[in-house]
Amino acid sequence: MTKKLSPGLVPAHVASLKSYVPGKPIEEVERELGLTAIKLASNENALGPSPKAIKALQCFLSRSHRYPDAAGTYLREKLSARNELGLEHIVLGNGSTELIQLLCHIYLEPGKTGLTSQGTFVMFPLGVRSAGGDVVQVPLKDLAYDLEALAARIDDSVRILYLANPNNPTGTLFTASEMDRFLENVSENVLVVLDEAYCDYVQRPDYSRALDYVRQGRYLIVLRTFSKVHGLAGLRIGYGLGHPEVVDALNKIRSPFNVSNLALVAAEAALDDAEHIRRSVESNRRGLQLLSRELPRLGLRCVPSFANFIYCESGRDAKEDFRALLKMGVIVRPMGFMGLPRGLRVTVGTEEENRKVVEALARLQESSSVPAASRQRAGD
Ligand SMILES: *Cc1c(COP(=O)(O)O)cnc(C)c1O
Repeated sequence: MTKKLSPGLVPAHVASLKSYVPGKPIEEVERELGLTAIKLASNENALGPSPKAIKALQCFLSRSHRYPDAAGTYLREKLSARNELGLEHIVLGNGSTELIQLLCHIYLEPGKTGLTSQGTFVMFPLGVRSAGGDVVQVPLKDLAYDLEALAARIDDSVRILYLANPNNPTGTLFTASEMDRFLENVSENVLVVLDEAYCDYVQRPDYSRALDYVRQGRYLIVLRTFSKVHGLAGLRIGYGLGHPEVVDALNKIRSPFNVSNLALVAAEAALDDAEHIRRSVESNRRGLQLLSRELPRLGLRCVPSFANFIYCESGRDAKEDFRALLKMGVIVRPMGFMGLPRGLRVTVGTEEENRKVVEALARLQESSSVPAASRQRAGD
């Protein structure tokens, strides 16, 4: 059969895109290798969904024939009260990554630039490219955002500036006063997107004052998600708290029913589940403490993390480490696709999972050919 000639209707900036590669699903690994596995690859909540959310979902299943409330009013009212922001500041997304995509499509076109750091959440560069814009990524400094270099790189072509705080995949953080200083040097002609997907895990008094900027009318949007501390990654729901013009533009181009009614009720219940949030944060704190102590002892180079994962480097290509760990039934994430080919990101799991990943990494280090002394500092 001859292949039909393509009419070439897909624009070059789309045809040339590389699709996002998700973390390996547990079921696939177990099927391929015939063993039981643990998945510490996608920064999911180790304790599962909020039990209150599960209950709400069960009650609501029989209403699945109804379209959701396109405005997500109840949930937005809850977010409004909690964050002391009017409804005009709040927009819901099919995960916060949908909002990243939509923002890129609103603000970018060929010739315009999306600016961010290297070694950061890949959904932003993907979004910029899919909108036909140019991506500029400033190098990391000690595996953290270099805010000065970012501010210095802004020119007239830059329309969106994306910052993840804490950063994924390195887990590093910048403080509120560092952000203050940075914003003083950023023109109001640039939309600042501040992604705070891991904010609930941060236990530092000098962390973000991002919502103050929104209240003061700065041209900025803060992104949050129900995928992490609330444990609802599979339901796909996130939100933005931002300047009303940004929120309004998002509302104009999003699909009217972008968030399902199940996601809406689960998110409302999860927000009220203070106990599940507290347990999740506490379990993560203990797990992170263990991993931060044990991984360097094994000769791995780590950076202090403020999120629900830890970034480390063995000195080898992380894909090799990933494959070796896979054979031991441990799924982690090599970070080449985010521009850090020697980086391995390990999600904090349950106590048992954390012990397993430490054991597996210990076996890996013992069997590895690279002696610890010849390994370089993380990030070199
Ligand atoms: C996990 C994560 C998100 C959340 O994405 P959802 O689409 O809401 O699941 C957003 N930003 C970063 C940096 C993340 O790591």
